[in-house]
Amino acid sequence: MTELKNKRIITVATTGAWPTKENTPNVPIEPAEIAEEIYNCWKAGAAIAHIHCRDDKGKAAMVFEKFEETVRLLKSRKDCDIVINLTTSGGVNLLEEDRIRPFYELVPEMASYDCGTMNWQNTTVFENNPKFLEKLGLLMQEKGVKPEIEVFDPGMIYNAGYLLKKGFIKAPLHFQFCMGVPGGIGASTKNLVFMRDTMEEVAPGSTWSAFGVGASAMEILYATVAMGGHVRVGMEDNIYYRKGVLADSNVQFVARAKRIIEEFGCDAATPDEAREILRLSPRT
Ligand code: ZN
Repeated sequence: MTELKNKRIITVATTGAWPTKENTPNVPIEPAEIAEEIYNCWKAGAAIAHIHCRDDKGKAAMVFEKFEETVRLLKSRKDCDIVINLTTSGGVNLLEEDRIRPFYELVPEMASYDCGTMNWQNTTVFENNPKFLEKLGLLMQEKGVKPEIEVFDPGMIYNAGYLLKKGFIKAPLHFQFCMGVPGGIGASTKNLVFMRDTMEEVAPGSTWSAFGVGASAMEILYATVAMGGHVRVGMEDNIYYRKGVLADSNVQFVARAKRIIEEFGCDAATPDEAREILRLSPRT
C-alpha cells in the first residue's frame, strides 16, 4: 500500500472569477487556454484542477458550454489523469440552476461547495442559502461528486457539521479553508490553527487544504505544509509570484508549492494518491 501520510495534494485554481487579462495577461480565460494551463500544471505536480470558466467577454459566468469544452479538451489529453473539480459558484449573484448544471451533467470527481453566505469583499452578498446547500449536497451525492467544502469563516465549518448530521453531505468531508477574503476570516497562522481545530471538533476525520489570498498566500502555504494540510495555489487567489511581480503562469505556483512540500520532507501527491486520500468515487 502506498504511504499516504506524507503526501500533500496540490490543487491548482488557474482562473477563478476575478482576474482579467488587464490585471495580468498571463491568466488563462478561454477553454483552450485553461485546458493547456491545467495540463502543464499537472506535469508540474498538481493533482486537482479547480475550474472556473468565463463568458465571451471574460466575465465570471456559469456558461455550460465553456465548462463542457474545457473538460473535453482536458480529457482529450489522454496521459493527463488530473482530478477535475468544477466550481459551483462561478462568481457571485449567479443563478442556482446555472451553478448546478456543469457538475450535474459533466460529473467531475469533485465540485466546490461554498458552505455559507457572506458579505463578499464589502461589496455584495455571496449567497449560499440553506435550501441551496441542501439541494446541492443531495445532487452531488446522487452523482457521486465529492464536495470540496469551501469555508471562508469558522461559522461555515459549523454549517458543514449541521449538513453532515442531517445527511445532506457525507463523511469523510474535505475542507478548503479560504482565508483572507474580505468578509471572511483573516489569513494568519493563528487563524489557520483555529480553523483546523474547529474542523476536527465539528467533523473529526475530515481532510483539509488551505490557501490565503493575495499577500497572505505564502504564510498560509508554509503554515499549511507544516501543519499537515493540503494546499491550493493559482491565479484565482493570487496573481503575483512575489511582491510587485506578476506570475508568468500558474505552473510557477505549482512548481514552488511542490518544492516547499519536498523541502519539508513530503511529496506532492499524484492524482491517484489524491483519489485515495480523499476517497473519491471510482469513475469508469
Ligand atoms: Zn473557485
